[in-house]
Amino acid sequence: MPKFKTLNDLPADLTGEVALVRVDLNLPMKDGSATDVTRVEAVKPTILELAGRGAKVLLLAHFGRPGGQRSSTLSTSMVIGDVEKVIGEEIMFIPEIAGPVVEQSIGILRAGDIGLLDNTRFWPGEEKNDPELAKAIAAHGTLYVNDAFSAAHRAHATTEGLAHLLPAYAGRSMEAELKALDAALGTPEQPVAAVVGGAKVSTKLAVLENLVGKVQHLIIGGGMANTFLAARGVNVGKSLCEHDLAPTVARIMDEADARGCTVHLPYDVVVAKEFAANPASLRVCNVHEVAEDEMILDVGPTAVEALGDVLKTCRTLVWNGPMGAFETEPFDAATVALARTAAALTLEGSLTSVAGGGDTVAALAHAGASQDFTYISTAGGAFLEWMEGRVLPGVAALEG
Ligand code: ADP
Ligand code: MG
Repeated sequence: MPKFKTLNDLPADLTGEVALVRVDLNLPMKDGSATDVTRVEAVKPTILELAGRGAKVLLLAHFGRPGGQRSSTLSTSMVIGDVEKVIGEEIMFIPEIAGPVVEQSIGILRAGDIGLLDNTRFWPGEEKNDPELAKAIAAHGTLYVNDAFSAAHRAHATTEGLAHLLPAYAGRSMEAELKALDAALGTPEQPVAAVVGGAKVSTKLAVLENLVGKVQHLIIGGGMANTFLAARGVNVGKSLCEHDLAPTVARIMDEADARGCTVHLPYDVVVAKEFAANPASLRVCNVHEVAEDEMILDVGPTAVEALGDVLKTCRTLVWNGPMGAFETEPFDAATVALARTAAALTLEGSLTSVAGGGDTVAALAHAGASQDFTYISTAGGAFLEWMEGRVLPGVAALEG
């Protein structure tokens, strides 16, 4: 496990401390209020713990893409009401991130009070990781806590720079995420299976290249499987397929072979002539029997059962990308069945299961499997970069 400090490394009583806490409050909005407050719920334990231990808590967050200038619609004051509701405490809005206004506000806050600074991306130095901006912000705090794993793939002043200027700690949500990710690909119990699905191989090349060196079983589903099948000479009809990637796929298969990684491709598939819910042309067939005017929209039931058996032999699973076009029935069947098998194995205690990715999170929720997975990352881009084996600057900075 990589070394980083957590809130456990701080004294119990934080009275007199000013904690600068990087959080993700980039909430999806509709008509002036948040449509999903998962991100606030994720950082709530850290905020309440620091405040409860007596620190003055100053929240730093970005909101949208203001491109280095102020914008009235992208102020973090837009979300403060939603944040207060979830946290259950009053929060003072501070319309700056550094300077005299911040200093005066800290003077007004009492021990255990919470303040929210304005959108960090109003300042061009944020995304440039400008040391001068980081220094100006750091001057207000006595410690820095990063609880925004989802922003850790960016080397920005408040996600990376600050960690070098103040004693730096992972918040509770960051800590949980890093522990789960380490259990999945860092120092996992073997054998490890990876499920990689979704629409296109081209968006996940780096993920595949990293995984073949780390896992014993690579399960390919979704539109990506079509590209793999086509590269092996299978006629995939009018399926979503990146034919030009055949040489790349061949290279990945060779690399998998050399590294002792078994690549699992579907041998039966669900096809239809048109992409619609429950189409009349729906049928299940062997991958070698797809007609010219048909498209593969899901992995077939026999293959799913075999994949479930593979999972039964594994101790660890990491999953990104749905097995089929799960938003449209009945092309959710393979994703739902495999997710439920993984969830059941996790409940039994035989599997550690970690999943992430925008559509994957939705697909696992649709399968009713989210609760039973060991960990589901909602971090999006940062999760994918981690699956690519990249160093995340915000995490590296915490590890000092
Ligand atoms: P994530 O957001 O979890 O990383 P992706 O964005 O890579 O996942 O892929 C999700 C999308 O892939 C879904 O919209 C799904 O409908 C689509 N998809 C999966 N299988 C197929 C298929 N066989 N044909 C077309 N689209 C597919
Ligand atoms: Mg997606």
